[in-house]
Amino acid sequence: MIARTRRWLASTVAALFPPRCALCERELPSLEVVCESCLRQLPSLGNFLCQRCGESIEEGLDLCLACGTKRQAVDRILCLGPYRGAWGDLVRGFKFDHDMAIGRWLGGRLADAVRESGLMGRLDAVTYVPMTHRDRRRRGFNQAQVLARAITRATQLPLMSTLTKSRPTELQAGLPAQDRRINLQGAFRPVPCSYGRVLLVDDIYTTGSTVEECARTLKRGGVESVVAITVARA
Ligand SMILES: [Zn+2]
Ligand SMILES: [Zn+2]
Repeated sequence: MIARTRRWLASTVAALFPPRCALCERELPSLEVVCESCLRQLPSLGNFLCQRCGESIEEGLDLCLACGTKRQAVDRILCLGPYRGAWGDLVRGFKFDHDMAIGRWLGGRLADAVRESGLMGRLDAVTYVPMTHRDRRRRGFNQAQVLARAITRATQLPLMSTLTKSRPTELQAGLPAQDRRINLQGAFRPVPCSYGRVLLVDDIYTTGSTVEECARTLKRGGVESVVAITVARA
């Protein structure tokens, strides 16, 4: 009975306020977030990508210069597409306009990417980049946590809060690469967890300092391997 009422309510709401594509605002035939045409046009990162971090590289190479020469705590980085354009529009719609339907939809696309990467069998749990209590209260939600929760729903992997953010940091966006690392040093604390191989979720990958600092902290706390995944790559 409750299920039937809920279905009736959903269809009535859909009839009164038909869902619109989050990108082109065209009316959608069903409870989707992005229309077929926009979905087909979502840009990808390119054909020749570093096997560790997904950075564009020359044909014939396996790793970018940074991954080939420097030891990093994140073992692998997956991103859906470039921040410039449609992926950035979707992230901003979710994060700043608080459109949770976009967030859940993006989480579903992240889950697809994990499956397509062939890494599913090598992951024990999903976790996310934490926010300080104050920042979380200010936004009302942690975008990385919403994405992570949607991934766990689609993959059946458990969701774990494995990190806390112990002090506020300056906004990474305004800082040069060198200062980003310093800004984050010691900002996270590991929460004891028994999972060895974790998927670390965030919304945007820029210089990689945030996921790298989180991965370093996780490994200090006993985690064996960290695959980072984000929606967009700046
Ligand atoms: Zn559209
Ligand atoms: Zn690389």
